[in-house]
Amino acid sequence: MKMPKKKRTYCKSCRKHTEHNVARPKKRKASELKAGQRQFRRVLAGYGGFPRALPSGDKPTKKVSFKLTCTECNKSSITKGFRVKKLELIEV
Ligand SMILES: [Zn+2]
Repeated sequence: MKMPKKKRTYCKSCRKHTEHNVARPKKRKASELKAGQRQFRRVLAGYGGFPRALPSGDKPTKKVSFKLTCTECNKSSITKGFRVKKLELIEV
């Protein structure tokens, strides 16, 4: 799939359609203070082992999402992920 690097879409904080820069969100290390990570540590502690099954083998598609940054107010949001085999960000 080819995706343009700029997109005109709705900005929640400007409350109108504005130009957005499209980028891939960077993978960050989970913060140990976040609620989900605290629950994960709580489940790991004690008996019962790992809470979920580990994936066996590679899937043919990878889940991708975009980080849209508004060029007017500089706020950013991350879109819902979807599955795609190959992704390219192109200049238009
Ligand atoms: Zn905005």
